[in-house]
Amino acid sequence: MLVLGHTNPDCDSLAGSISLSAFLTKRDGKTVTPIMQGEPNAEGLFLLEQAGLACPEIRTSIAGEEVWIIDYSDFNQAPKDARQAKIRGIVDHHKLGDFETDEQLEAWIWPCGCSNTIVYNMYKIHNIEIDQKVAVMMLGAILSDTVHFNSPTCTQIDIDAAHELAKIAGIDDIDAFVTAQFAAKSDIAAVPSEELILRDLKVYTIGEKDFSIAQVEITNVDSALARKEELQAELVKYKAEFGYHTALVLLTDITNLNSIALIESEESELVAETLGGTFVGELIDLPSVVSRKKQVLPPLQAQFK
Ligand code: MG
Ligand code: MG
Ligand code: MG
Repeated sequence: MLVLGHTNPDCDSLAGSISLSAFLTKRDGKTVTPIMQGEPNAEGLFLLEQAGLACPEIRTSIAGEEVWIIDYSDFNQAPKDARQAKIRGIVDHHKLGDFETDEQLEAWIWPCGCSNTIVYNMYKIHNIEIDQKVAVMMLGAILSDTVHFNSPTCTQIDIDAAHELAKIAGIDDIDAFVTAQFAAKSDIAAVPSEELILRDLKVYTIGEKDFSIAQVEITNVDSALARKEELQAELVKYKAEFGYHTALVLLTDITNLNSIALIESEESELVAETLGGTFVGELIDLPSVVSRKKQVLPPLQAQFK
């Protein structure tokens, strides 16, 4: 049995593959292995180091395997041969995607801020102990996905889970931990522009149109805006290569809780208007927008489907 998160793995996918594998191993007494579809990001590497855990094996083929899926439920974020795998379970906190199965499965899909909040509750419901190192990963995932409890996706059960996990992890000062974690993900000086515009990227088909939406979460967006021309030039190339209707890069300020989006689109002004933002000089100002899932995707779906 394998457990895997989505493409462009974030902290929730990374921590989730580890926490859910450990849970299933204990509950079902089987050998369950966490895998990832790509290298962890800088924030993920920070969490692995804090926890003292090794990175899961990176694998992009799962044909013929039994798998649990965490942090998504659509084939376009799964390995290309996922239709040839047997999906035995899903843990997720997004809109329901297009997964289909031939057999029964165990699904835990809750409208909360992080998949690891659900995994925490699975441990609790089944009365299974969480390892200290695993708790560090799970806490980091919740802090990342909820932007330290500030995202509109955050719920009380996320906050409760995080505080319980901090106790298990032996982390007394969550604020200090999250400050170091967010500093790790905000250090973009050495990240090439062509890589930055692909960070935390997801592609959605809405109606007949493909929307690519990346998100760069940083404590200070000035460092990214200083490279605006270079980022925009990369975005133009990227959109042309894949023929998307729209390519957006949300530069999300996780200190002040708002976003500025770089956009390359067939309908830039309509996209800006749909998101409630103003389109000025190839940038969209998006006050109070921090969540792609809750504040960006739903209006685009309503407008373009
Ligand atoms: Mg995710
Ligand atoms: Mg998540
Ligand atoms: Mg996220």
